[in-house]
Amino acid sequence: MARTIFSDGQLRSWHGPSLVTDSLGHGTKICAMTYEKGQTMERLVEPQVTIGVIQKYNFAFRKRFGQNFLIDGRVLEKIIKASGVTKDDFVLEIGPGIGTLTQALSEAAAAVAAVEIDRDLVGILHETLSDCPNVTVISGDIMKTDIPSLVREYGGGRPLRVVANLPYYITTPVLMELFECGADPVQVTVMVQKEVASRIMAEPGADNYGAITLAVRYYAEPELAANVPPNCFMPRPTVGSAVLNLRCFGDRKPVRPKDETLMFALIKAAFGQRRKTLVNSLEHGTSLGLTKENIRSAILRLGLSENARGEELSLKQFSELSDIILQS
Ligand code: SAM
Repeated sequence: MARTIFSDGQLRSWHGPSLVTDSLGHGTKICAMTYEKGQTMERLVEPQVTIGVIQKYNFAFRKRFGQNFLIDGRVLEKIIKASGVTKDDFVLEIGPGIGTLTQALSEAAAAVAAVEIDRDLVGILHETLSDCPNVTVISGDIMKTDIPSLVREYGGGRPLRVVANLPYYITTPVLMELFECGADPVQVTVMVQKEVASRIMAEPGADNYGAITLAVRYYAEPELAANVPPNCFMPRPTVGSAVLNLRCFGDRKPVRPKDETLMFALIKAAFGQRRKTLVNSLEHGTSLGLTKENIRSAILRLGLSENARGEELSLKQFSELSDIILQS
């Protein structure tokens, strides 16, 4: 029986009914039956099982929570494979939905904590994960969750891996929080919008190279694990998705700016007005009080043209630029 912790800190357990399949030779039919010990829950990723759960609970999808449930077994396998989760690992899942990915993670990992904002889904998860004893469902908003405390409480000192089909409206803040909160994941494997994936994978000079590219690359090495078309979800999103594997650097970051905050302020300013030259965007886009002359000479010291734009600079060059500006 999966455990659930509510945001009021109380632990409540359910002994509700579960789903079993009734195969009558006409494919799989869903029927609700009382869960008995030893019965195995059907794979939620099968579209018919997902439909059965949704109908049974009369669940209404909430667009504002970015609810698009995975219904493709091959994609599920790719996510699990890419995540590299083993029985030595603790997994944090963000937004378990009806538990499709959680079910597979429960089999692969030592323990799983899944944070879900939608209380209606939390109730459903009690049934769908009733035979996943190593899963703890936490009712709450990931953006208000103290992730390091959660990891200390449920992780048992194991390496942390984050695996999620992310609600797209909070992709960037969630990724930044995961990298910066101090929980120190070894890897983050996430489904994101295809367009966000290409921004993260972009190289200097590309149109979609930007602040998110550099922010992610400071903390992790990204790899595209799979492209996922809209028909792999219910309901179908309007855009394509992709699975990204982010291998976190931990203490071995690729650059070591003397002032991390300054480096990120320069990156933000450079891409805030990306059509302008770096000199102009840094002069007006930061509250650092940098003079045009300061910036121009720093850029020239880097060996760049004074007409260079932010999108031409690599992470290493932004790091060096911030060190030069700091000293000037
Ligand atoms: N993991 C499921 C799957 O793959 O089928 C559902 C993924 S769905 C794209 C995103 C899930 O995140 C939904 O269950 C949604 O309710 C949940 N969610 C949205 N915002 C959240 C938040 N701030 N904190 C925790 N969960 C959230």
